Amino acid sequence: MEKVLKQLYQEIDKIEEEIIEIRRDLHRHPELSFEEERTPKFIANYLEKLGIEVRRNVGGRGVVGTLKGGMPGKTIALRADFDALPIQDKKDVPYKSTVPGVMHACGHDGHTAALLATAKVLTKYRRNIPGNIVFIHQFAEEKPPGGSRYMIEDGCLEHVDAIFGCHLMSTLPFGNVYYREGYLQAAADVFTIRIKGKGGHGALPHQTVDPIIIGSQIALNVQSITSRKLNPLEELVVSIGSFHAGETFNVIPEFAELKGTVRSFKPDVRDMAETNIKKIARLVAEANDASAEVTYERGYDSLWNHTAETNIVQKAFRNVHGVEEVLETEPIMPGEDFSYYTQQVPGSFFFVGAQMENSSAVFPHHHEKFDFNERAMAIVAKGFCSIIFTYDQQRDVVDHIS
Ligand code: MN
Repeated sequence: MEKVLKQLYQEIDKIEEEIIEIRRDLHRHPELSFEEERTPKFIANYLEKLGIEVRRNVGGRGVVGTLKGGMPGKTIALRADFDALPIQDKKDVPYKSTVPGVMHACGHDGHTAALLATAKVLTKYRRNIPGNIVFIHQFAEEKPPGGSRYMIEDGCLEHVDAIFGCHLMSTLPFGNVYYREGYLQAAADVFTIRIKGKGGHGALPHQTVDPIIIGSQIALNVQSITSRKLNPLEELVVSIGSFHAGETFNVIPEFAELKGTVRSFKPDVRDMAETNIKKIARLVAEANDASAEVTYERGYDSLWNHTAETNIVQKAFRNVHGVEEVLETEPIMPGEDFSYYTQQVPGSFFFVGAQMENSSAVFPHHHEKFDFNERAMAIVAKGFCSIIFTYDQQRDVVDHIS
């Protein structure tokens, strides 16, 4: 195993230029979630040319490739997303986006290039590969309801024993890899409360039903959800980020609108927050002769990493050339639709540090100048290869824990 893995690492080093070329090509031609056409075609053609069995239009726009290894073993899925964002690219680089208002500002182009490289080197050594490898190239990660659910419904996890995926991180040091067992990313929901009162003159409040006063009470009351309804040992955020009402100083308006977000990990905590926001809005409005309409939109479920598979990630990266440190990360609050895969099969999602060397080129994800250290893609590809072999070695342990 050691020998094959070393050869795979060398193959990845040899094709590093090609990986960067693929990434830059995708970067020049970004496509929005649920509108991807060129990208899935590119991916499917690339995999087919390698001799991998390909299924197109999985769940809509997804691509699934299956490589049958020459050795007995389990079926492992590796996932990369490939959609871009509605952001204008403001970088000054030769590979900047050629599509106005659309940009790969989250690094999904890098995930795709790294997974294609993984497929390429594994195919070359397919005789030595244990089990089957399923390459899940997923559309529409950025936009709920997300592509993963549709791909799962369309069978992308059939016969899969475990799944792994990762995110390149532009703000984490290059060379580091981050894992976490249990909850890694939060469920991110959006709510809107629209209060209907009765408008009138500011000097004659008794003839009105003031939605500003009622909205203020609701804004304060929902804070008691985290301070008084939640077990203090659990995590939850309820934030109101927008409160709009009225136009001028002496008119009491008819409407007020509040918008906010709920971030949670455990499903029962999430349900509790939703129920209480609705109840508080409705009853506070009613007590004041107004009415409140609440819409609560659920984003992705929180992402759970399984124990045995997370241990495999940790172990796998410890022997990847170029990796400095393998560290445990805190959970983070943005959502990720990889969560739906690990609800179906055991798996683990991890972060790969991809900070630019030049500190003035470091920008957070979804920023109009976002970019990442392209050398991190080879680390991802090597990590994926190492995961395949580490999983195979740990098979009995995994079966025992699962
Ligand atoms: Mn992303």
